[in-house]
Order: sequence, then structure tokens, then C-alpha cells
Amino acid sequence: MQFYSTNGQCQPASLKEAVMQGLAPDGGLFMPERIPVIPRAFFNNIGEMNIREISYVVADLLLGQDIESEEIQKIVNDTFSFDVPLARLDDNIYALELFHGPTLAFKDVGARFLARVISHYSGKEGRTVKVIVATSGDSGGAVANGFLNVPGVEVYVVYPSGCLTQLQRAQFTIPGSNIHPIEVIGNFDDCQRIVKECLADQELRRSTGLTSANSINICRLIPQLFYFFHAYASLVHRLGHLPGIVVSVPCGNLGNLTAGLLAREMGLPISRFVVANNVNDTTVRYLHTGIFDPRRAVRTVACAMDVGNPSNIQRIRCIFDTPGHSSLPEILHGYSYTDEDILGTISDTYSINSYLTDPHGAAALRALREDLKEGETGVFLETAHPSKFPRAIESATGVTFPAVDASSLAKVHIPRISSSADALKKTLASQTIGSGATL
Ligand SMILES: *Cc1c(COP(=O)(O)O)cnc(C)c1O
Repeated sequence: MQFYSTNGQCQPASLKEAVMQGLAPDGGLFMPERIPVIPRAFFNNIGEMNIREISYVVADLLLGQDIESEEIQKIVNDTFSFDVPLARLDDNIYALELFHGPTLAFKDVGARFLARVISHYSGKEGRTVKVIVATSGDSGGAVANGFLNVPGVEVYVVYPSGCLTQLQRAQFTIPGSNIHPIEVIGNFDDCQRIVKECLADQELRRSTGLTSANSINICRLIPQLFYFFHAYASLVHRLGHLPGIVVSVPCGNLGNLTAGLLAREMGLPISRFVVANNVNDTTVRYLHTGIFDPRRAVRTVACAMDVGNPSNIQRIRCIFDTPGHSSLPEILHGYSYTDEDILGTISDTYSINSYLTDPHGAAALRALREDLKEGETGVFLETAHPSKFPRAIESATGVTFPAVDASSLAKVHIPRISSSADALKKTLASQTIGSGATL
């Protein structure tokens, strides 16, 4: 499979180049040149297949020309060391619980898969790779966990000052070893911008072997397709027939939504997506007006969605730009919510359905309830475990979680830098590779 850049200003790349570069040399995002369609027969017994079997079929269609089938099977099996249950809330609404991985958020899926593909390639070459990730909350922990002690890989987690919860921060500041946190005085968009600027610096990229572990990396995105197929399979298993489904996605950088759209392009019968934003509603405004007008993000209770300039919009535009494709407003219905709306939904869902949602899942659930019509079946993505957001959950429901042991947080010295690419480049250059030391 070849991958083209959404900016269209460079040659198509092989899988290996796309993964190891992260961002295309022209600053665009890589997209598969061809989207394979799943054979109809696959759906005949999909209800009897588990997530590893389903993922293997999808992965092999996308990556089978580049990685041997046995290796793909192993990567997929290692990625899903945990289950992704579909929980029933009421007659027609289900939660896809993506938070049963080691760092309690869906980011584990992409990070674990990416870590294995990168070490598949870097292991063959025996050179050190620097993996950099900007985190709005959950990517940092997932990537740290996925890459911890992977030989030949040094990981840099770039996170915004003051935005993350204690548990989110702990997940990448505690491990040490090859995981290096870097705090940026700014917000997630600042982190994402300076990381992209570093990745776009071809000289730096080549000299350090720098790549991205954000959803701009195509191999973080691809495994996210798998669980849309799995959600569908789980419904078929329960209902005994093939339903058309509506899927609601809590959106930040739009990785999940892009993956869902690609799964639909491959033939998964999703009739439409419901797009949930918090007050950082760049995507929802875009759906309503057709104008992409990024704004500076503000902090909300659903902090992993505090993104004002979502990167993956470029990929979504490419999908809808295909001639003859249905239009964006037909397939994507957008809603945005205040913190009060989100906390209200957590509270109502806990008292009415006895189900505890995290703030992100709650936004998606609220949007799904608003959008779903009589007779339709809806699934929303429950993207993180509620315990990652103890303050919000306690204020909405009174439910408490044990506090994280903060004493271990102060052990590593964390560089704190201004939100400029130069500051980040200097910090990357000053890190001692291979010593296992965090600066
Ligand atoms: C990252 C994240 C999101 C946003 O997902 P995108 O794929 O970036 O749109 C939503 N919820 C949680 C819990 C997250 O960690």
C-alpha cells in the first residue's frame, strides 16, 4: 500500500516511510492511496468473530502487502491484550467501552499497535528512533505505556501546563526509563503546533530519526478502524441480525472520527456519525457552516477534547472530496456542549441508567440521544474510564475514586519550555540518548 499526503506536494510513501516519518514532508498527513472494500462474505459470520480475528482481517487488507501475515496477526493479538465490551444502556443505545487497556483510555489501542509496528521496522535497522507525542491528556500515558522499555526507542511526551489530571500526568511522568516528559507553557494546540514544526524540519527529522505518535501517524489511526467493526459485530451477536447503526464520537483531534469514516468507506454499514464537541466547537461549527475557523481552545471538564485546531480535519476533507461521495452534512451531525451539559448528562445517566460515563463519553451520549430517531440503533464511544476524571465524576454523581499517590510524581525533573519549536528542538537535542536518564 502506498500513502499519499493530504497536501499533495510530495511523492507517495511506503508504509514504512509513512510510519517512520509520521508527518509527510510537505506538512500534510498520510492517507492510504486505495481504500480496500471488505468482501460481503465477511459480514455473514461477523457476529461470531472476536476483536482479534476481526482486526486481523481488516489489518491484513490494509497492510498485508507490507508486513507478513503472521507478523500482523501477532501485532494485532499483542495490541488487544484487553477486551472492548459493548455495554447496553437502554433499548437502542450502547456504549463501546474502549477504556479497558493499561492506561484506561482508547489511546491504548493506537499506541500499542504503533509501538509494535515501529519496533518491527526499527528493530530491523538497529538505529534509535525518537518518538514524539503531543498530548491533550490520554495519548501521553498510552504512548508511554506502549513504548516503555522498547529497545531503540526514546519517547518524548509534550504536554500543556496545568491542563491534565494528576492520573493522566502520572502515567507518563512516573515510568522514567526511555520516557521523557516535556511541559509546555501553553495549551494542547500549542503542543501540537510545535511538535509538527519539529517533524516538518527535515534535517532534524533525519538526524534524530524523529517520528510522531499522535493520530497524525497513520499507524495510530489504522488500529482505530478495528473497533468500529468490532462494535458492529458485537451488536450483530446480540441482536441476531445486521442492523444499520449510528455511531456517536466525542471529538478532539478527530482521530476516532477519521477512523470511523475509513471503516465506513471499507463497507461497514454505519448510516451516519454524530459528532460531539465541548465548547471547543471548531468541528461542529465547520459542519454547520462549511467554514473551518480554528479558535484558541479553552479548558473544559472533557479536557482531552480541548482542541481548537484539529489536525485530522485534513483527512476528513480528503474522504469527502472524492467525486460522487455523499455530502458531509448527510453523514456527520454535530452538537456541542457546555461543562454544565456534560456534568448534567453524567448525573442523569448515573441515576437513570445506573451507568457511569466519563465526561467525553457523556458528551457523545448526549449528542446521540439528541440525534437518534425512532427505530435506530446507536453506539457511542466511551473513550476513557471515569476514574481518570475524579473531580468531574464526584461533582456530578458523588462517586469517589482513590487518589493517585502524588509523592511519586516529583521524582523526575521535567523540563518546562515556552511554546516555541526552537525551545522544543533545543530540549530534544539536549536529551542523552540511551542513558535512560530523564533530563
Ligand atoms: C483523545 C481523546 C478524545 C478525542 O479523540 P480524537 O480522536 O482526538 O478526536 C476523546 N476522549 C478521550 C478520553 C480522549 O483521550
